[in-house]
Amino acid sequence: MLGSRWAAPNGGGNHETHIFVTHYHWDHIQGIPFFAPLYAENNEFHFYSFRSKFLGRDSLKQVFEAQMALPYFPVDMSAMNAKRKFKEVEGGDTFTIRENKITARWLNHPQGCLGFRIETPAGTVVYATDNEPGDPKLDESLRELATGADILINDAQFTPEQLNTTRKGWGHSSWQEGVRLAREVGAKTLVLFHHDPDSTDRMVDSLLRQAREEFDSVFAASEGMVITLGETGDNVQAHMPGMRTTLRREAQFRAKVTGVTEGGKEFQEETVVRDISLQGALISLQNMPRLQSELQVTMETPGEDGLQSSMRLKGYVVRIDAGPEKGHSAVGVVFTD
Ligand SMILES: [Zn+2]
Ligand SMILES: [Zn+2]
Repeated sequence: MLGSRWAAPNGGGNHETHIFVTHYHWDHIQGIPFFAPLYAENNEFHFYSFRSKFLGRDSLKQVFEAQMALPYFPVDMSAMNAKRKFKEVEGGDTFTIRENKITARWLNHPQGCLGFRIETPAGTVVYATDNEPGDPKLDESLRELATGADILINDAQFTPEQLNTTRKGWGHSSWQEGVRLAREVGAKTLVLFHHDPDSTDRMVDSLLRQAREEFDSVFAASEGMVITLGETGDNVQAHMPGMRTTLRREAQFRAKVTGVTEGGKEFQEETVVRDISLQGALISLQNMPRLQSELQVTMETPGEDGLQSSMRLKGYVVRIDAGPEKGHSAVGVVFTD
């Protein structure tokens, strides 16, 4: 999805890109051979990862080569025309990329995993996937990594019950551990990440609901989600695509939507909200709102006694696609309250 968006206007594609690889398990490397920007000559990639004791020097480069060896892939690595540079980092390393300071720390995971802290002028993002609590030294390493983060992306693969029983030792965490950590280190927004492949979207909704009862600002990561760091004190704006089809309820709510168009004009429109989840909705609109602008959505919902009641929600525009009806756009919104 990122590869396809790369070339789109405002798609975020850059000629020079830095990619942090946390470790070499399949779920973290499988997309690499399919990432189209790696085949474009003008692109330049800098990869950061650690030297695995199982692979030795140039571990990530070896992983690339092995993944693309025939007959696992139709072309070998020489078909990748982008410039690629590999840098070995390890837990405790700190370095800068332009105006950003990067810190890497070891996390508790089989065969090792690095978490990354990225301090930018707009705020600090911590990417701490694949970690299991319970190792005092590595727990401390994670706490230091996450201290004061504006956005903390943390492993939330298992339920707290699974983590204590059948999935103990698998190298993952839960929403509850994430909330505990976020509180302890004063992180502002928590993103639940690394969902279990066996968790349905409804189950992810349920984890998110529980997490929100205990922590103010929590999102469940979804494919293609973009989070923009604003000025200090600004709300985090979450960018969620309308891709999680199974999560959507087959419900329709009449709604009134107010917002700002791309051209900067205020608009108000009546429509129906078709797809709604705990976190967001997909709304069909004739007006074209501005990406990441705020929308007010007032929905008519059937009350418990069968009477209509209305629900007022504030959200951010996170995705705009051509809608199923002519002249309409499908607008993805993440609700923030
Ligand atoms: Zn892993
Ligand atoms: Zn993983």
